[in-house]
Amino acid sequence: MKIVFGAGVKGAMTKAKKVPDIMKYRTIALICLFISIPINVINTGSWWLTIIGISLLAIFFIMTLTLWKCPACKTRLPLRFDKEKDVNDIYRCPYCDTKFIGGEIID
Ligand SMILES: [Zn+2]
Repeated sequence: MKIVFGAGVKGAMTKAKKVPDIMKYRTIALICLFISIPINVINTGSWWLTIIGISLLAIFFIMTLTLWKCPACKTRLPLRFDKEKDVNDIYRCPYCDTKFIGGEIID
């Protein structure tokens, strides 16, 4: 997807602007969350599992709070995805209506 927009379909109507790839940050954060939950659940008193579980959870919260925001208006984005609107990996900011995919803003 990134290649298509990055290389630019000749004379395309889409003009891309580079921004931090917040979708990637979000994916990493969610992976940390999904690993930490089972660790915290199965943990029966092992101190190192507790540390790993809490650390991963902390990474999720820190990444979500600091990086999961709109690259255009800097507003913190809602955690939930709207399945109806967010198609084809294009995320639309509910506040300023900017569309972006990967690390690029689509005009
Ligand atoms: Zn925005």
